[in-house]
Amino acid sequence: VIEIKDLHKSYGQLEVLKGVDVSAPAGHVLAMIGSSGSGKSTLLRCCNLLEDSQQGEIRINGEDVRWKGQGPNRRPADHAQLVRIRTNLSMVFQQFNLWAHMTVLQNVMEAPLTVLRRPRAEVEETARRYLDKVGIGDKAEAWPAQLSGGQQQRAAIARALAMEPKALLFDEPTSALDPELEQEVVRVIKSLAEEGRTMILVTHDMKMAQDVADHVVFLHQGKIEEEGPPAQLFGRPETARLRQFLSATQ
Ligand code: ATP
Ligand code: MG
Repeated sequence: VIEIKDLHKSYGQLEVLKGVDVSAPAGHVLAMIGSSGSGKSTLLRCCNLLEDSQQGEIRINGEDVRWKGQGPNRRPADHAQLVRIRTNLSMVFQQFNLWAHMTVLQNVMEAPLTVLRRPRAEVEETARRYLDKVGIGDKAEAWPAQLSGGQQQRAAIARALAMEPKALLFDEPTSALDPELEQEVVRVIKSLAEEGRTMILVTHDMKMAQDVADHVVFLHQGKIEEEGPPAQLFGRPETARLRQFLSATQ
């Protein structure tokens, strides 16, 4: 579903991604780890056209999603493509970014109604089903500010699922949460992995990465330093940099 080849990305003089290849075939969970500033968020942001890149290829469901055109005419995509890509890929951020002026249910219903233009009754039914799934069906009529951090993040996950995306991108979904609340969100992410959803999961939580990932990528200064199945990466790290990174995150 997601294929990235030789991706290069700079902000001005600063080269953040220096030729990265990653892929997440259908049903796979790819975990991405690496120290702060290694380029993890930037890579996710390139995938859904929030950022431009200078070189390489990004394919989502076979479709080329890099920005197009030259100079001032360079654009993320035409509107139809942007809608298609953002429908196929839902992103969940560290800060849950729920809309404060909408109830939890309205938050989950908003994009399917306005972007996909699905009928309201159907959208509401789907939204309630996903809220139940993440364990906050009873909070549908609450305002975001009335929820705990873990509940807000689960609402954000329900909102991402309501678009019925082909893949989910998580950018440190648990790192703004207290340890007890974190576990509620980890449980939801595990259940999504068990259902066979395609995901890229950027995380500082090595235990979660080990539990849910099919493949782990360790990014260091914009390059993949080491990658492999979780048992190998966490059990028998080969590079000194990964060993050092893992011992610092214990
Ligand atoms: P963290 O674990 O702290 O979230 P990260 O791996 O997600 O880190 P990125 O956010 O991708 O790192 O940032 C990679 C580098 O790019 C950093 O050096 C950062 O300062 C720089 N950077 C990110 N966004 C921008 C921007 N909009 N303009 C300029 N530089 C940026
Ligand atoms: Mg980041």
